[in-house]
Parts: sequence; structure tokens; C-alpha cells
Amino acid sequence: NTASLQARTDVPAETRDGTRIAVYGNIEFPDEAEHCRTRGADGIGLYRTEFLYLGATRERSEEDHFEAYSKVIRNFPNQPVVIRTLDLGADKVPGALQEVFRDITNPELGLRSIRVSLEYLGLFRTQLRAILRAATEGDVRIMFPLISSLAELRQAKMVLADVLEDLEEQGIPFRRDVPVGMMVEVPSVALLAEEFAREVDFFSVGTNDLIQYVLAADRSDPSVAKYYNAADPAILLLLRRIFAAGAKVGIPVSVCGQMASDPKFVPLLIGMGLRQLSVTPQSIPTIKEMIRNMTLAEAEDIANRASSMELARDVEFFLRGELRRFL
Ligand code: PEP
Ligand code: MG
Repeated sequence: NTASLQARTDVPAETRDGTRIAVYGNIEFPDEAEHCRTRGADGIGLYRTEFLYLGATRERSEEDHFEAYSKVIRNFPNQPVVIRTLDLGADKVPGALQEVFRDITNPELGLRSIRVSLEYLGLFRTQLRAILRAATEGDVRIMFPLISSLAELRQAKMVLADVLEDLEEQGIPFRRDVPVGMMVEVPSVALLAEEFAREVDFFSVGTNDLIQYVLAADRSDPSVAKYYNAADPAILLLLRRIFAAGAKVGIPVSVCGQMASDPKFVPLLIGMGLRQLSVTPQSIPTIKEMIRNMTLAEAEDIANRASSMELARDVEFFLRGELRRFL
């Protein structure tokens, strides 16, 4: 029950046969960092910084960014805090920036996310400066969203290198060795995962977008909800491919999309090789408890059986049935 779960929040998520799984929290606002900490998160795996702009009526200054990041880091001074650069556009358009996005015919395939940052470099540089400065206070990592080509990744890294140089020249305190990772949420990246893995320090899989782009089903359109399915065999195949690429190249991989917060997918993901999850704050205690109740062998068996199925609905039915064993 909830009370006993709460009492066990400090116990790490380790499978019965001794495999440690990191369970991080996803946040949208700095206040949520504390909720993650009290629920036993191992750090922040996804800080959606664009929420700093949503509902804002004025420009955000470097100090606004810096303060927000510092607040999050103060909750996790010795644990990873993954700050994702702005993921504006598509489902996240702030009032103040409406003009920029007005004439986009297909917002999900248009100017959004890292593409906005690379188009509006001032915005991007301001954010990167604040992250690098705040990083002196903790174990901060930078993550680029919606990367779709190696050229784009290199361009984003170049801007970062440039900002680093500026701070250096200006004699402003900052952290130089901040790990740089990227979201895997565009099919082109999943297909070439090994090539991308060689150029970043970590991957985080954004299943919300990956599913929408692989299955051509808008993630927020209820009329195509039946086409949007995390249990689709094509999704499982791509996830295995991404996890394998991370393992081969030697970089950590996490999943921060909603799929990782859904208990029925947790044994599957771990069985396919995942060792880090980033989930909604409310689901942290339950997911940690589930992990403590399973063995790696059980999870691998579930993953193997699910991967042999042809239909998403069979995978789903099967995973729902297996869930009982761990809750
Ligand atoms: C995702 O796409 O899965 C993700 C975590 O990012 P967002 O939901 O913010 O697009
Ligand atoms: Mg996304």
C-alpha cells in the first residue's frame, strides 16, 4: 500500500538478483524537483525547460534560467540532473512566441524543438550559458531534443563550444566538463543509433515522439489514438536496436518517454537491456518497488516472449497479465 511504499522510498531499485536500476524523475517546473527527491528519485532524468516559457508574457533572461536550474540542482547536489534544452513548438507553444509558429502547416514535422534553438541562436545561447554556470553546483548534464541528423547534432555542439569559449573569455565561473547527451525520438536516429552514440555521452529515448513518428500517429490527436501504440512490434524492435547501440559503444541509455512510467512496460524495458528510467514523479515509488520484486531473468523472459508476438494488442494483453507478479 501507499504508506509502506512511502517508507521504502530511500531503498534503491535493485532487482532480486542484484541489478541496480536508476529511476530518475521527469519535471516541468523547478518545484517538482523536491517531489522527486521525497519520492526517492536517483536524480532528474528529464527537465523540460520549455515550461519556463509557457505562460510567460515576457522574454526570459539568463538569470531566470540560472535561478530555475539552481533550484533543481539544490535538490540533487550529488546526483544527475539532466537539463534538456528548449523543446518549443508543436504541442508546446508559449503565448509570447505565437507569431513564430503561426504559419506552420504541420507543427509536428515543422519548426520545433532543437530546430527552433538553432534558428533563434540568441535564445539558445542564453540558455546554454545559464546551464553551464549552474552546473558548477552539481552533476548537471545537457541534453538536446529532437536531433534528426549528425550534422544537426554537430551544429548544436558547436554552439555549445562557442558559448563555453565566451564564458571563459569573460572570466565567468562555469563548468567545462558537462556531459552532453541527446534524445532519441526521431526514427532516423534510432536507425543510425550507433553512429550517433559515438558522438554523445548519453542517450535518452523519447518514446512519446518516437512512437508518433514511427507509426505516423499524432501523439495528441484522440481520433488516431488507436494507431499510437507503444506495444507495437516496430517500436520494440527499434528500442532493442537503440539499447544495443548504447551498450556496444559504451554510453548509458535511459527512456524518459511516458512508456517508462507505465508499469506494464517496465519489465519489458529492463528485459530488453534498459538500466535507467526517467518517470513522472508520482510513479517513482511504485516503479522502484516493482523493480525490487523482479529478477533480471524474469524480465528477460518477458521481453523475449513479447518480442516474438506479431500484434500490438497481443503484446499489451500479455504484459498486462505479467504485471501482477511484481505489484
Ligand atoms: C518524448 O518525446 O518522449 C519526451 C520525453 O519528450 P516530450 O514528451 O517533452 O516531447
Ligand atoms: Mg519529445
